[in-house]
Amino acid sequence: ETPFFIPRLSIIGLGLIGCSWAKGLRVRGCVGEVLGYDRNLDSMQEALNSGIIDRISSDLAAAVAGADLVIISVPILAVRQVLQEIAPHLAAHAVITDVGSVKGSVADDVAAVFGADFPRFVLGHPIAGSERSGVSAADENLYVRHKVIITPQPHTDKTALRLVRRAWRAVEADVESMDVVHHDEVLAATSHLPHLMAYSLVDTLANTHENKEIFNYAAGGFRDFTRIAASSPVMWRDIFSANKTQILKTLDLFTHDLHFLRAAIEADDTTTVMGVLTRAKVARDHFS
Ligand code: NAD
Repeated sequence: ETPFFIPRLSIIGLGLIGCSWAKGLRVRGCVGEVLGYDRNLDSMQEALNSGIIDRISSDLAAAVAGADLVIISVPILAVRQVLQEIAPHLAAHAVITDVGSVKGSVADDVAAVFGADFPRFVLGHPIAGSERSGVSAADENLYVRHKVIITPQPHTDKTALRLVRRAWRAVEADVESMDVVHHDEVLAATSHLPHLMAYSLVDTLANTHENKEIFNYAAGGFRDFTRIAASSPVMWRDIFSANKTQILKTLDLFTHDLHFLRAAIEADDTTTVMGVLTRAKVARDHFS
């Protein structure tokens, strides 16, 4: 296999996820020129200064001109408009991919803008990241030994798929494939629900305890459990909205079980409480 190289790469949305991918490709010698666009001028300037992109683009048209691979790494609800704006300016051979945490909504956006059978858009989602955001959080090793889920569709072009897989493997990620609907179902349970719970718990405590003095005692469990509530509100607002159906399904299941545990505690039913805790511990020990 010839060494992997993308002559011209374009990143739309210069935040943690897009910049980490671009930086990872650059330090490993896998890209020629990197173009970038962000609606925030400071982010563009910062990406230029730190050598992640080679020049600032004045608009989306300039940012994708002649690009071989275009990475869309903006918050989920901004994707459709970005696609509408870049569509007329893409090179005929350009492959487009995204990194969004929800795949069904992006699949709909692609179909709405490019048509239902567009072959050169590859839907993807890296299972890596952090509660930090922006260019300054970019890390060329963010994806090393992390999973990236690609959700190919029947009409996805094999060459496009191969290019995107190779671009992820080049930054040492482990690429897996999944069906779009299954992805959104699994991620609602493993990522979206825990984020929702963390945000909600912190909000509850912040509202019920005046002057926030309880946070002075928030070591251990609280700190571990709520770290993710420091994530970008815009990003998570978009995810909760774009994956609403699957999130509500898993939230209802959880709410039901939470009430069950509450009732057992209220009734001093220690056997039932012990059963829940033991089953959870066994499950947790098993995957860690
Ligand atoms: P980020 O906040 O670090 O970066 C997003 C960037 O997009 C910002 O610089 C913002 O200015 C820019 N932007 C917003 N709207 C835009 C528009 N209309 N046009 C151009 N630029 C625009 O966020 P991030 O963590 O890099 O997340 C980006 C995407 O990656 C999201 O879709 C998110 O679902 C996905 N994702 C995030 C994580 C994570 O842990 N952070 C993990 C996997 C996937």
